[in-house]
Amino acid sequence: GADPVVKVAEPQDRLLGGLLSPDFNDTSCLSRYRASLYRRRSLHVLSSHLVSALRRYESLHRHCSPGTSAYERAVARLRSPSSSNTSDAAAALSECMYLVWTPHAGLGNRMLSLTSAFLYALLTGRVLLFHRPGDDMNDLFCEPFPGATWIVPEKDFPIRGMERFGIRTRESLGNALGRGEGGRDPPPPWMYVHLRHDYTRPGARDRFFFCDDGQDALRRVGWVVLLSDNYFVPGLFLIPRYERELSRMFPRRDAVFHHLGRYLFHPSNTVWGMVMRYHGSYLAKAEERVGVQVRTFAWAPISTDELYGQIVSCAHGENILPRVHESSPGNATATPGSGQQQQQQPARRKAVLVVSLHGEYYERIRDMYYEHGAAGGDAVSVFQPTHLGGQRSEERMHNQKALAEMMLLSFSDVALTSAASTFGYVSHGLAGLRPWVLMIPVRKKAPNPPCRLAATIEPCFHTPPHYDCQARTKGDNGKTVRHVRHCEDLKDGVQLV
Ligand code: GDP
Repeated sequence: GADPVVKVAEPQDRLLGGLLSPDFNDTSCLSRYRASLYRRRSLHVLSSHLVSALRRYESLHRHCSPGTSAYERAVARLRSPSSSNTSDAAAALSECMYLVWTPHAGLGNRMLSLTSAFLYALLTGRVLLFHRPGDDMNDLFCEPFPGATWIVPEKDFPIRGMERFGIRTRESLGNALGRGEGGRDPPPPWMYVHLRHDYTRPGARDRFFFCDDGQDALRRVGWVVLLSDNYFVPGLFLIPRYERELSRMFPRRDAVFHHLGRYLFHPSNTVWGMVMRYHGSYLAKAEERVGVQVRTFAWAPISTDELYGQIVSCAHGENILPRVHESSPGNATATPGSGQQQQQQPARRKAVLVVSLHGEYYERIRDMYYEHGAAGGDAVSVFQPTHLGGQRSEERMHNQKALAEMMLLSFSDVALTSAASTFGYVSHGLAGLRPWVLMIPVRKKAPNPPCRLAATIEPCFHTPPHYDCQARTKGDNGKTVRHVRHCEDLKDGVQLV
């Protein structure tokens, strides 16, 4: 039959309704205009305000990117801030300001914090740059902005060791506020924003990033360096000064990552090659694709048997996968010449893509449909691209495979994911699908119900500030503004709804 993938290739889809710029050369990044052809059509409305903000951002980026004279001047100011005289200082105000993002933690965390950084750059008129200390993120993503790079040239960049910055770094926003230097005039040439999971530690003032004090202190700083493993987008919705602009960019708050992620993340041709080969070999012919992502965390222990049971009871209970006939041979199709009357055609061809660091879940699901027939007569095929055993985010090939699997998962028609996994958030966020989420085990046991349909496609901000800027005390950020609620999969976190 006709490849369903080709049918949706309408010209207006190529740019995802204006989300993507048309100004790229197709072959340098094959995935850019093609990935969406393999996904279900997005039902999430894109605002024209966001589209124009992106086009404006692209021209700013082109003007300020590494290699331009504006960039050279900005680096010179960073290197010797004292040498600039007053007229320079006045000129500097109208010049380029930067947000330098540094990778930290696993790929899912990185993609979510990078997306958050990009939204912050959009809101504050900064140019987002990507600091790549090692080679673990080389040949992973294409350049997202037309006609300009987002990679910081490492040679001679005046701020060194950014990847090792932490809560103690002297130039951090929290430490500057602690010293009473929030309103320094002239502002320091650069500041560090620390939003790793430990930023809410008692006594640390990094959480003021989400308050007016923090934003005031950063406003005139030419270079801001950011380290985060968080999807802090919901936190930006807590800051009153950005409220209006955010509501115009995202009249529906629940698809921020879906849009910005599809805008930013285009796998390199190397990764796209892996995705296409796998898809073409195992998944393309199926009538329905079910993505199953199984992630385990040391802080939420559960045995393999128990988790497998949870997956099956969710998948069967919610009709994600067909139940099986207990007595084989069930609906086995007859072999030629066996004398059986009917050569049954499968009702539907379902491909199940299992993505996990571990091989056992795939093996058991595959065996279930090998040993027993599927109720309803579906032909269920089960695949797993890799089972890498453990996380090795400092290795390039490891990250390339992780990204390829996130992409393959994002082509699913139905998603079953593990709670609290940023890897899973990226996959279903790109897909624009509300996944069925396997809830966190309770005392090593699968909870009841085993899974829930997510309320939103938005990722969870795992470590919100939980601070009330007005009252200057602890506060519950799941109750501060209308569109930010506690996450279903992680109670302490908050997400956009
Ligand atoms: P999280 O820990 O689930 O929130 O996701 P992250 O992506 O931040 O970190 C987990 C890392 O472990 C990934 O980036 C991969 O490097 C690796 N990993 C976890 N699950 C998988 C998987 O199913 N497939 C592959 N290829 N890698 C995985």
